[in-house]
Amino acid sequence: MIPLSIPNLQGNEWAYIKECLDTNWVSSVGSFVNRFEDALKSFTGASYAVACVNGSAALHISLKLSGVGPNDYVLVPNLTFVASVNTIKYCNADPILVDVDPTTWQMDLDLLESFLQKDTFLDDKGDLRLKKDQKRIKAIMPVHVLGNMLDMEKLVSLGQEYHLKIVEDSTEALGSYYNQKHAGTFGLLGCISFNGNKIITTGGGGMILTNDEQIAIQAKHITTQAKADPNEYFHDQIGYNYRLVNLLAAMGLAQMEQLPSIINRKKEIDLFYKSYLSPISGIVFQQHLEKTKANNWLFTFQSDYKKELLTFLKNENIQARPFWVPMNQLPTFQNCLYLQHTNQSNRIYERAVSIPCSSGISNAELDQVQAAINQFFKTIK
Ligand SMILES: *Cc1c(COP(=O)(O)O)cnc(C)c1O
Repeated sequence: MIPLSIPNLQGNEWAYIKECLDTNWVSSVGSFVNRFEDALKSFTGASYAVACVNGSAALHISLKLSGVGPNDYVLVPNLTFVASVNTIKYCNADPILVDVDPTTWQMDLDLLESFLQKDTFLDDKGDLRLKKDQKRIKAIMPVHVLGNMLDMEKLVSLGQEYHLKIVEDSTEALGSYYNQKHAGTFGLLGCISFNGNKIITTGGGGMILTNDEQIAIQAKHITTQAKADPNEYFHDQIGYNYRLVNLLAAMGLAQMEQLPSIINRKKEIDLFYKSYLSPISGIVFQQHLEKTKANNWLFTFQSDYKKELLTFLKNENIQARPFWVPMNQLPTFQNCLYLQHTNQSNRIYERAVSIPCSSGISNAELDQVQAAINQFFKTIK
């Protein structure tokens, strides 16, 4: 079986984890946590980085720190992994789902802008409110789907104009840039994930990025049980046990050393597949804006024959997978406000297929995958 996307553990992972075990520093205090955070800061250019147990925890805390609370709304794309939207619910807030652009598969900013113009107003305190029910809209959570990015200049200016905090779900976008600025560094906060299937992994892990010192201090504080006194067990608010442990940070540091070569390989894989699959009629790739340099994390394309292709590849021992069911189709979120004209989320969902693209995949395996797909499209004609 050629797997979809598996970790690449060829670097110092063993050595650094062994160092933790040998020295007994396995838990949430230890030098690797700080070194891993420093590696993220220098790679992304963010002023501060706070390591968390996973990307979902990072998003949860980021929303809280941007002031999202009970009865608020948060704008989020309808086509995303469920964790983005769940974390809005963790804050007792509600998502407003925004349809995506058919070419980039990211939140449709034109749709968002016309909604903000027509259906919202700024109250005398400067809070944005939905006309329909007067409830506050506090933040936008753009999701850099598959490591692609949207027009960040436009997003940031909409955020300023409408007094919306920006929390970037950059969980898939480590190594992606817009205008040479790293994903997750445009908004007040940005979040990275190191889950097993992401571009690098700690098994499970996450990181909060911010350029705001006070926010960074708060992020560290509430992810470590909000303990306010070095000696006494005095906690000044509700905290969380969300800190990444040293063992996993050790793995993360080793992964960061490998990240540049992993990104290079992802680019090669992207170019390889595009050259062999673009002659097939009906296949559509995700488009990138000119200023975007994506990390090419997970190779995904659209085709009218998604179901048949998934079955065919399974029989060929090639692991492929469908895309996320759009949020408005999940029982939990089906009654949420959904901004759309042509429901592009559903069209992409109905057609998208991801294919093997581990950074450790061999050229022979890549060739096997493209040959199988070409074979499939010959037989259906
Ligand atoms: C992976 C992912 C998350 C959650 O990250 P975890 O580390 O798995 O909690 C959130 N949003 C998106 C878009 C993701 O792909």
